[in-house]
Amino acid sequence: MPDNNRDNTAEDIINFYKTASTDELCKRAASLCESIHGKEIILRGLIEFTNYCSQDCLYCGIRKSNKNAVRYRIDKDEIIKIVSMGYNAGLRTFVLQGGEDPYYTADKICRILEQIKKKTEYKASVTLSIGVKSRKTYRKFREAGADRYLIRFETSDRELYQSIKINSSFEKRIAAIHDIKELGYEAGSGYMTGLPGETEETRINNALLCRKLELDMVGVGPFIPSNNTPLAASPKMPLEYAIRATALLRLLLPKAHIPATTAAGTIDQHGREKMVRAGANILMPNLTPVEVKKHYLLYPDKICLDENANEIIKGLGERMSAIDRKISFSRGSALRLGK
Ligand code: SAM
Repeated sequence: MPDNNRDNTAEDIINFYKTASTDELCKRAASLCESIHGKEIILRGLIEFTNYCSQDCLYCGIRKSNKNAVRYRIDKDEIIKIVSMGYNAGLRTFVLQGGEDPYYTADKICRILEQIKKKTEYKASVTLSIGVKSRKTYRKFREAGADRYLIRFETSDRELYQSIKINSSFEKRIAAIHDIKELGYEAGSGYMTGLPGETEETRINNALLCRKLELDMVGVGPFIPSNNTPLAASPKMPLEYAIRATALLRLLLPKAHIPATTAAGTIDQHGREKMVRAGANILMPNLTPVEVKKHYLLYPDKICLDENANEIIKGLGERMSAIDRKISFSRGSALRLGK
């Protein structure tokens, strides 16, 4: 059984994972999490600023070929307004996420980054999650103020990756993570659990790849079959896969920031609490305006569709205090960097 007081080898941890019940695994991971991150659950404001996408990932509701998706873009001034509102509510990290939308050129993104930094008095961190770009573009974003970049590898199984992310290269996605790290970003990646064709070995390899990449942030969530996609009829796998993955990731990457993801909250009313109990330490209140939020439908039945930012933050605070945790407005920088 891994001991919280020493560095465990990956082998020790995997052996424990294979034999432990989900309850044992979560208890161990939560106790390790608390010893490093305390009882605080850090909030990051999420802005889903475009659902246009040039990619055609088989699992995703905003894929290019989904003609039923209602498309929207939030313009620069509106993004700045949303950030200001979040900043005034206390948030100190903003995550800009979107499809791979050619309308948002590197220059447009840079102008948005510069304005966010200015508007938040250079006190807030900005994370981008807008897919694979060239190293040169990542450098531009970094120089314009981006602090963090999230890019999930989705699955460590190369063949599975190639079959669900058509016209996309697994190698390029991994290379992007290396580029991001080398350019001084705090780097985030992650994967979905329960993809069709995934095995227990895949799930173990997914977590091991996160450790190998020495990620600062890892997001894992259940794959939810989405209407109007080629994977719509795939079976829904249990949330337990994502819960066990969260606990395993916490044991393998004790210092990482790990979110309790929206996808977990979507398939189970208490999914995010379960993830926190498995060692997650981040929540991402969704600041996307109510009118368009309903169209960022990666998967069906996404939660919080009708609530505004303040209501969401209040609700998360109540949910966390009910499980003996406390929401925090800290920037939540990577611990690796000793900030
Ligand atoms: N376009 C950027 C990218 O690909 O990195 C960011 C946006 S993408 C929609 C964000 C994440 O949504 C993906 O990395 C994927 O893991 C998740 N996602 C998409 N479709 C999903 C589904 N059906 N179920 C669960 N998660 C899904």
